[in-house]
Amino acid sequence: MIKQTQTRTISFYTFGCRLNQAETAVIENSFKDPQYTIVDISQPADIVVINTCTVTENGDADTRHLVHKISRLNPSAQIALVGCQAQIQKEKLLDLPNIHWVVGNAKKFDLAQIVQAVDIKPQVITPAIPRESFSIALAGIDSRHTRANLKIQDGCDFFCSFCEIPYARGRARSRNFENILQEAEILTAAGHKEVVLTGINIGTYMFEGKTLLDVIDALEQISGLKRIRISSIEPTTVPKDLIQKMRGTSKLCRYLHIPLQSGSNKILNQMERKYTVEEFVEFIQFAHKTVPEICIGTDVIVGFPGETGEDFQQTFDVLRENPIDYVHVFSYSKRSLAKSRLLKNEISAPTKKQRSQILRDLSNRKRRVFQERMLQTAPEVLFEEKKKDTWLGVTDNYIRVKVRSERNLHNLLVKVQLQQIENQTVAGQLL
Ligand code: SF4
Repeated sequence: MIKQTQTRTISFYTFGCRLNQAETAVIENSFKDPQYTIVDISQPADIVVINTCTVTENGDADTRHLVHKISRLNPSAQIALVGCQAQIQKEKLLDLPNIHWVVGNAKKFDLAQIVQAVDIKPQVITPAIPRESFSIALAGIDSRHTRANLKIQDGCDFFCSFCEIPYARGRARSRNFENILQEAEILTAAGHKEVVLTGINIGTYMFEGKTLLDVIDALEQISGLKRIRISSIEPTTVPKDLIQKMRGTSKLCRYLHIPLQSGSNKILNQMERKYTVEEFVEFIQFAHKTVPEICIGTDVIVGFPGETGEDFQQTFDVLRENPIDYVHVFSYSKRSLAKSRLLKNEISAPTKKQRSQILRDLSNRKRRVFQERMLQTAPEVLFEEKKKDTWLGVTDNYIRVKVRSERNLHNLLVKVQLQQIENQTVAGQLL
């Protein structure tokens, strides 16, 4: 094994969830070294790092398409596939062109050391994932986005029957409390005003007796940090105190993304979820009553094996009748390690497509109703980017806002009077 000395170009691409984005930012930072020039994914590069996702079969297909595209446009590129798909599919991924490294979740943060060595043969590095709590040495400063992802947790012990994540990411473990605060301080010093707490099952955070609420309390003490947002959180793991906290002057955003997955108790049971529809509804009703301007989003899987028309109708009714403001709709796909692969009564592709469309339409209508409810209020907007003469930003309760202004609003928190809905975005005026 010899060491590489030449300067090389490197690019990064992320599939999947927020946690993957957070982790790509950390990996990218580990390549900030004179030996490398980081370029955009649209540019040819000597090394291309793809952080993969395997939650659905679409995730797998997306990786394959991107790898083929890169190898066609840039035949000399060396590709590193890291993360969940790498962990599960291992050697199988070597059949794809230009793959030089397949690095699973336990070793992906060592990628900079791994690519240092010039090995003729492709490397597959996918050891078992440790169970212990962890620290991350480098902050995931992401200069392209104003809102920074902050990883606090990884893995999951819930083993829902449709999900491969516990196999791809291992058992639930939490990040060292002090190490989280250190990264938050660094991110704030770098100019980030909002952090999004990410993980696989963040409601189960537990480090030396400290819970998710303790993490939020400690982050609130960082003076330059203005907003703390929690990303997706499992029903049954959200303490009511967390909702209470969203009231008043807390920095915690009035936002909850809480996956329902199905509105049928029969299907929830087969999914091996840990709650009933009634418990879910009771909780979101409580959240809505406690914080009337909260935005509540959810995930739903359509076409789980055995989902009858009646089960689907129950899901539709729960979504329609309750304070749920948008829905991310996923079409069920069989995963090779998930228990549900053994279930009979598969749902046909056209039915899944039709049901998905019905829920997407419902989601659009519900989002609009929520936005209408917020018109004429004047929330603070964190501005992120400018497109032509329009600045785009987001409120704490996740309304996308646009404003015409000559001012440079980048990364500023400014009050905006919300005036009218234009294509899923709300146009407003600076106050
Ligand atoms: S809670 Fe269920 S769906 Fe979420 S990661 Fe864990 S096993 Fe997968």
